[in-house]
Amino acid sequence: MPRQLFVTTALPYANANFHIGHIMEYTQAGIWVRFQRMQGHEVNFVCADDAHGAPIMIAAEKAGKTPQQFVADIAAGREPYLKGFHIEFDNWSSTDSPENHALARQIYRDLRDNKDGSLIETKTVEQFFDAEKNMFLPDRFIKGECPKCHSADQYGDNCENCGAVYAPTDLINPYSALSGAKPVLKSSEHFFFKLSDPRCVEFLEKWTQGDDEFGKPRLQPEVTNKVKEWFSVRTNPDGSKSEGLADWDISRDAPYFGIEIPDAPGKYFYVWLDAPVGYLASLKNLLDKRGVDYDAYMANPALEQYHFIGKDIVTFHTLFWPAMLKFSGRKTPNNIFVHGFLTVNNDKMSKSRGTGLDPLKYLSLGMNPEWLRYYLAAKLSARNEDIDFNAEDFMARVNSDLIGKYVNIASRAANFINKYFAGKLSTTNTPSGTTTAKGPVQAAWRSAAEIRDAFETREFSKATREIMRLADEVNSYFDRFKPWQLAKDATRHAELHEVCTNCIRAFQILTIYLTPILPNLAKQAYSTLFGLERDPAWNDLKNLATNIQPYQHLMQRVTSEQLEALFEPAAPVEPAQSAIQSAAFVPSGETITPTITIDDFAKIDLRIAKIVNCEAVEGSTKLLRLTLDVGEGSDAKGNLKTRNVFSGIASSYKPQDLIGKHTVLVANLAPRKMKFGISEGMVLAASHGDEKANPGIYVLEPTEGAQPGMRVR
Ligand SMILES: [Zn+2]
Repeated sequence: MPRQLFVTTALPYANANFHIGHIMEYTQAGIWVRFQRMQGHEVNFVCADDAHGAPIMIAAEKAGKTPQQFVADIAAGREPYLKGFHIEFDNWSSTDSPENHALARQIYRDLRDNKDGSLIETKTVEQFFDAEKNMFLPDRFIKGECPKCHSADQYGDNCENCGAVYAPTDLINPYSALSGAKPVLKSSEHFFFKLSDPRCVEFLEKWTQGDDEFGKPRLQPEVTNKVKEWFSVRTNPDGSKSEGLADWDISRDAPYFGIEIPDAPGKYFYVWLDAPVGYLASLKNLLDKRGVDYDAYMANPALEQYHFIGKDIVTFHTLFWPAMLKFSGRKTPNNIFVHGFLTVNNDKMSKSRGTGLDPLKYLSLGMNPEWLRYYLAAKLSARNEDIDFNAEDFMARVNSDLIGKYVNIASRAANFINKYFAGKLSTTNTPSGTTTAKGPVQAAWRSAAEIRDAFETREFSKATREIMRLADEVNSYFDRFKPWQLAKDATRHAELHEVCTNCIRAFQILTIYLTPILPNLAKQAYSTLFGLERDPAWNDLKNLATNIQPYQHLMQRVTSEQLEALFEPAAPVEPAQSAIQSAAFVPSGETITPTITIDDFAKIDLRIAKIVNCEAVEGSTKLLRLTLDVGEGSDAKGNLKTRNVFSGIASSYKPQDLIGKHTVLVANLAPRKMKFGISEGMVLAASHGDEKANPGIYVLEPTEGAQPGMRVR
């Protein structure tokens, strides 16, 4: 029976572009989802922008936009990150969607009208009010002197200098960060979710400290322990008292960008009330589009619901969220999977600020997204612990594991199969392999259950370790039998056939295992080596290929130049460019590369060239051979000096289309030796970043009158 899974990642706050921490979480959840699908299970994997709250309202006002427009602009920049790193949500919605407004209000009504007694109550609260802005001030928008260490300009909720936690009213000489005005205390009626109600406490203790539906401890041990503290009545190290679970303030006064509370004009849900409801709203939005009934889907007792989150939002997901669902009569999550933070080169600042490794810069440098996916997988476990991106470690793992071990198997063994056996794999060991398959194939099969369990329990580092151990085993098998020697002796070709066949079969098995982590590389290996135009399936383990095609290069190495460029501090950006970057707008599929100086540009010598001849290149479907007059005069014999340039434009032009035209040549590019001759420069042409999806190459042509040799500047 296929399992029914509903999986989410945390909803990113829509006031900024993604940082590398988002990419890590989406990659972690995405690997798990791909794995589940390979097991034949049915998964709905959704996310949404977390759109509401004071910070967005205030940022939008500063940007001169409505909050809706502000959030829409951020949302428009999500795609290049997701597509770029092979992250495939089934749906991306927003917490400002009609579905979320309706669901959040309904959940609230159900909590308020709970038949065993309402779980909503109102209390009068005194709060700082900015009379100039005419609004209550969120904690983060009140600043003043720390009551403990007396540092100036500290936030209203805690001191960045000494770490003290306090109420905004404790600040000395408080002021509004919005207007600078001295805030006044003003009372207002607030709505509370009664988390201290004995029903909630009893349910949450059981839910967080007990077993799940499969009889295993529900939460990760370190999370269980953390949550346990919140139930107890105790004295904190700073002398304050904790009285177990406290009621949760779920309302904010207008003006607020959010969802209005039913029957309470001018009162809005605090953003954290409707944010997790966004999981359900995005799912409903998806199911509505598919014509599937949301209520029926959620009512299925076999449905499993999982949320991947970071360790900073555990309270919301292990207390408020399950209690909200339980006491509004809804399905509670099966589990919450908590991960730690990602630091970059051990820079502790980077994790909270999300700086250090810019995901779009990574992509714009032509770095393979699957390098990062593999590296993250190799470091991620089921534990809630921080992991570090270390540039040297990254290069070593990608180059030695992926290329030196895994890809190496195919590149070594395939050539013998193609050269001596016309691509046919040996049949002396049957693909079903129960009896006679030997060595590495058996070893790779034997690990199937272990690798499957590692993926299932999110122990991705364990899975990659085992896969690489197998890759080592295949490579030493290859070395032991020395196929390069067997090939020289015609009497030993049967042996050669069997050895290389075993390596290729093991390679296919490892490809299947790696598919959740490296979906593109796996698909490429299937297509180019096995001639299979589909994704690898877990079932292929017992139905391996019987022949192969000539080996084609599968993956480049990471270079230290790329890593240097990745961590090079960004050049100061002009306002126009920073606007492009902040919206994460990617023109025609490629980000604008980092700023260069006019001197950098002057190094490139661009010249008008006349295409005096153009012909097809025998043996190449991509290239045309251009003969160019670049105004370099004649040689001693009076022949026009020309340049020979190969250009990959044959898909868009016939030779006769171009003869006689003018174009632009990079005239000082180092000559490049190619298979068909030497190319003395490069002509300029435009194309989309994703040429497969948006084919078409457009050679540049100057307007009438430009002469060969004129410089383009
Ligand atoms: Zn302080």
